[in-house]
Amino acid sequence: MDVAIQEVVRPASIAEALATLARADARPIAGGTDLMVQLRDGRRHAACLVDLGRLGLDGVRRDGDAVEIGAATTMDAIAGDAAVRDWFPALASAAGQVGGWPIQCRATLGGNLANGSPAADTAGPLLIAGAGVIVVAAGGRRRVPIAEFFLGPGRTALRQGELIAAVRLPLAETAAGRRVVERFVKVGPRREQVISVASLAGRAVVGRDGALEQVRIALGSVAPTPVRATAAERALSGRRPDAVARRDAARAVQGDIAPIDDVRAPARYRRIVVAVLLDRFLREVERG
Ligand SMILES: Cc1cc2nc3c(=O)[nH]c(=O)nc-3n(C[C@H](O)[C@H](O)[C@H](O)COP(=O)(O)OP(=O)(O)OC[C@H]3O[C@@H](n4cnc5c(N)ncnc54)[C@H](O)[C@@H]3O)c2cc1C
Repeated sequence: MDVAIQEVVRPASIAEALATLARADARPIAGGTDLMVQLRDGRRHAACLVDLGRLGLDGVRRDGDAVEIGAATTMDAIAGDAAVRDWFPALASAAGQVGGWPIQCRATLGGNLANGSPAADTAGPLLIAGAGVIVVAAGGRRRVPIAEFFLGPGRTALRQGELIAAVRLPLAETAAGRRVVERFVKVGPRREQVISVASLAGRAVVGRDGALEQVRIALGSVAPTPVRATAAERALSGRRPDAVARRDAARAVQGDIAPIDDVRAPARYRRIVVAVLLDRFLREVERG
């Protein structure tokens, strides 16, 4: 294994971690499920790894009108957390579908986002939740809306030396008599241990008359970054998700995506899969 790591440091405070990360050859490591593979393959380089395991960045907590999930919280912990399951079922579902269970016990939320993959499974659920990424740096902390976090394949709004501390998800109160349907679904070449060919996270608020009062759709693996399907959302707004609306949405969603051919699937297949995932989600919303 050709990993030119010379040093692994385990800081006990965020200040100490940030001081080490000021070095240009230092890189944070959480679960290592992305980074170790990339170092081995020569896709990333680091002489110094800064282990985030002792910084207390793990755990889920209710904070006023939001739920805050520490960056070092594992997928297994997220998938099993009662508050996440209750309030953000798409996120719980996505976390429970990352790799397989051994990966979920190592892989963290912060690592999934910082890696910057268009296929990051937690990104879609965070997009439909309107989450904010809490970033810390030597100069202080800032909040980056998740919609502005992903810049391109492997590129994020994180600057050199910055860390994700947590992700903050606002709690959305639902008016009486409304129904909320929230789902995460993905398609891959097999059931486990694969990166998605396409994924969809959807959240629909359905009024008493069955019309969509609010609908949010996010897609993974079909554009240079995870994306909100705003054209499809517009096509559905205020309508019942019946066959006509579903057909309009399937057409509109093609304008939201820019898939590529790669080793996992051709672009044309991804376009078909997205339309199928959207149709399935909307049928479920219609059924109630
Ligand atoms: C077999 C296998 C299957 C997989 N299946 C899936 C899947 O189905 N879906 C999916 O989305 N992913 C999948 N992955 C990818 C990976 O498991 C996830 O992206 C995981 O969440 C990465 O988290 P980590 O803690 O292991 O990150 P690491 O590998 O430790 O780090 C990843 C990157 O993020 C940086 N980083 C980590 N934490 C922080 C932080 N707090 N602040 C700033 N930067 C940070 C690191 O420097 C590195 O660049 C799979 C990987 C493997 C090996």
